[in-house]
Amino acid sequence: MTETIDWHEAYIGLGSNLDNPLLQIRSAAKVISGLDDIDECRLSPLYTSQPVGPQDQPDYINAVIRLKTRLSPLQLLKQLQAIENQHGRVRSIRWGARTLDLDLLLYDDLILNLPELTVPHPELKNRSFVLYPLADIAPEGLLIPGTASLSSLLAACPADGLQRLAT
Ligand code: ATP
Ligand code: MG
Ligand code: MG
Repeated sequence: MTETIDWHEAYIGLGSNLDNPLLQIRSAAKVISGLDDIDECRLSPLYTSQPVGPQDQPDYINAVIRLKTRLSPLQLLKQLQAIENQHGRVRSIRWGARTLDLDLLLYDDLILNLPELTVPHPELKNRSFVLYPLADIAPEGLLIPGTASLSSLLAACPADGLQRLAT
């Protein structure tokens, strides 16, 4: 009997602005790449960005991971939330400072609107700290389901002080 292997392509947005954000992002990338049923993880360059929402918090470090997975979107979300928790994520005020935020940005060309999971991530198109690192690692001509091409979203999104970190 042949095994049915069902690999999907997903993109994860990473953000941190507490407790050594650089280490948080690097550690999260390492943990994600070591998960079962995840393969071919690629981390984008890192960026610094100014906070969304409350302004009285430190700047963020952001990046995007591209990967292959056999997990379903909800299974992947659950794993990402467990990793946030392992990294000391505390949920207090909306868009408040956090040690680690892991958002599922894209999952193949799926459009999903569940109470606990919206894919593509609803704010993806408005956030330079997502669009720039995404464009660094996405294939040429990537389409964002239900929206437009990544390149047209990027062209319409102000950089908002986003800066790529020297590696
Ligand atoms: P934003 O979603 O605007 O980036 P946030 O990342 O700070 O805000 P969280 O506190 O991390 O928000 O998550 C709040 C809820 O969002 C989670 O409980 C999760 O169920 C839900 N959620 C919906 N869609 C997604 C997604 N694509 N990726 C991650 N979480 C999602
Ligand atoms: Mg987020
Ligand atoms: Mg989140």
